[in-house]
Amino acid sequence: MSQPNDRSFLTGLQCLRCGQNYAPGELEYVCPCRPNAGSDLGHLDAVYDYDSIIATRKRLAWTAEGNDGASTRSIERWWPLLPVRVESLPPLPVGNTPLLRPQRLADVVGVNQLFIKDDGRNPSASLKDRASAIALARARETGRVVVAAASTGNAAAALAALGASAAQATVIFVPHTAPEAKVAQLLVYGSRVLAVDGTYDDAFDLCVRACEKFGWYNRNTGYNPYMTEGKKTVSFEIAAQLAQARGPARSAGGGEGKSSFQAPNSVFISVGDGSIIGGVYKGFWELHRLGWIERVPRIFGVQSTASAAIHNAWRDGLEIPQTVVAATAADSIGVNAPRDAIKALRAVRESGGAFVLAEDEAILQAILPLARQGGVFGEPAGAAALAGLFEARRHGLVKSHETVVVINTGSGLKDVPAATGVAGDPVVIPPLLEAVAESLES
Ligand SMILES: *Cc1c(COP(=O)(O)O)cnc(C)c1O
Repeated sequence: MSQPNDRSFLTGLQCLRCGQNYAPGELEYVCPCRPNAGSDLGHLDAVYDYDSIIATRKRLAWTAEGNDGASTRSIERWWPLLPVRVESLPPLPVGNTPLLRPQRLADVVGVNQLFIKDDGRNPSASLKDRASAIALARARETGRVVVAAASTGNAAAALAALGASAAQATVIFVPHTAPEAKVAQLLVYGSRVLAVDGTYDDAFDLCVRACEKFGWYNRNTGYNPYMTEGKKTVSFEIAAQLAQARGPARSAGGGEGKSSFQAPNSVFISVGDGSIIGGVYKGFWELHRLGWIERVPRIFGVQSTASAAIHNAWRDGLEIPQTVVAATAADSIGVNAPRDAIKALRAVRESGGAFVLAEDEAILQAILPLARQGGVFGEPAGAAALAGLFEARRHGLVKSHETVVVINTGSGLKDVPAATGVAGDPVVIPPLLEAVAESLES
């Protein structure tokens, strides 16, 4: 797939703390304005030449097709807003996941239009594939042979799968408590796996130091600014799919007579480090900046009451969250010291959304309606987004006439014990017809 004009629209990186601007490649990870410790980092935001994109790109060309006429099924279709060249991306297609419209679940929730963006249907079965693809491309472009990451599971699984497809070596630091299915993915794809006898935060810091020492490329969430750039593609897809699902509507300028992108009223997404929600916001913000949607949807971040660092910072009006001791059953959103809180807080504050809390019990219970009325088997952190929507409805934060998108971030097959914990066990019977009849009575 060739990029028609090899020029990237990326113009640089801007520090979200001190405002300093950097040229692409001048700085890879974080701004040196902050001491390199804990959550308080000089996070960088990728900036593009939006006016040139407006001048040269047609909205319509982006919906059904990507690359000037060539149909493409992966995130490469959004190349003008990616920080890497299409040729650098791993061959395994990422993204283009379905936007489902389960009417029965909409009835249960009590909203007119409910959509589920099922990002469990990515190659390694989570939304993290979108970011890992960018990390591998970036490593390739900067001549780095090994890509490393610290992860509670899914970011690593994504890096392992996509790295294998691109024949790029990967080293993964996981907390030794990571779920078996996720660690199995790493080993199957052939990553070097280091299970750190410590917390996720220990694994994160060790990974940063190892990358410095051995010259590896670091994919860590909330440290590598380009991860947001991969995750934002989920919003581009949602807006394009919504426009398709709902047919012709008012155009948001541009005069094509039909809008290629439509924003929902609100989006629900579970939050751990805060990187995905930051990316979701960035994606909609960019579509709005380009004049292709009329408004940025309200972004709702969902946390477990047992891992609520970013929610608490939002509630208390803080810029930097206070560390918590996370103990949630939704392992993908269990974080003591969130690494991308700045972008997460910006997402919610600037979109007029909110952070919502759900008890672990409600998160696990939400696995059932997500599957039974929604048709989607999510891992606990995926179901958490739906649990948050129930909570938001209860508090009147979402009205019944709204168009709501819930993002399922990961497949339920990633955490089978959590699923059977709420779905129960099968009835064991002898191989007799009478036993079947009896079982129907109980
Ligand atoms: C990583 C992850 C999250 C949370 O994303 P953050 O960027 O850490 O906030 C939610 N759900 C799943 C399945 C994940 O893998």
